[in-house]
Amino acid sequence: MKLTVLGNYGSFPGMDGACSGYLIQDSNKKILIDCGNGTISRLQRYCRIEDLDMVILSHLHFDHISDIFPLKYAIETKASIGQNLNKIKLYLPENPKEIYNEICNGNVFHSKPVTDGLEIDEGSLRITFARVPHLIESYAIIIKSGKKKLVYSGDTAYSDEIVKAAEGASLFICESTLLDKTGGARLTHHMSAGAAGRVASLADVEKLMLTHFWYEEKKEDYLIEARKYFNNVLIAEQYKTYYV
Ligand SMILES: [Zn+2]
Repeated sequence: MKLTVLGNYGSFPGMDGACSGYLIQDSNKKILIDCGNGTISRLQRYCRIEDLDMVILSHLHFDHISDIFPLKYAIETKASIGQNLNKIKLYLPENPKEIYNEICNGNVFHSKPVTDGLEIDEGSLRITFARVPHLIESYAIIIKSGKKKLVYSGDTAYSDEIVKAAEGASLFICESTLLDKTGGARLTHHMSAGAAGRVASLADVEKLMLTHFWYEEKKEDYLIEARKYFNNVLIAEQYKTYYV
């Protein structure tokens, strides 16, 4: 599997940054995980929107979905000028209902609601969804290719659910919204870098990749905090491709 980080900010992008978006490539399949603000522009460095097989939204907060709307406009515009594309498969939670409806109306995507435990196959990939606690319906995404297991936390509280989802991951991409020392320890719907390190240790993952950063914090501080609990940690760097 090939993972390219398109955006690594949570809530608000830092200067020249983008919010959550990860391109997964395996064999000839291309899957976009989350579609935060700034990601669709960056995606085009790696593939055309026509080449996307699937988009998965972990949950419907705007820093994870904003660019799905311009993507929809692009597909609608192409259809209006006679460029009818294969419909992109879109998996997303059904709630909040009004946001789900806004994304799915017009039948631009081949949309399917996500449920806890849902398993789908795309090429050689097996993708499983695990519900995790957050302010709204939210899912961790588990992607297996042969013996490799990539787990993306989505947005989640520190919980048994995320430990279970991450279990034995080759690569665990985990949200670390804040640092414990600057408010992260009090988070109830998100995780700190320290919490991400603790989950990685409990779940016995091979490698932890931190992401979903607050733009005013230094990335090195996230690493330092997570390493108190787990050694093999790296930062999800924008525009960088990783092999799993
Ligand atoms: Zn969220």
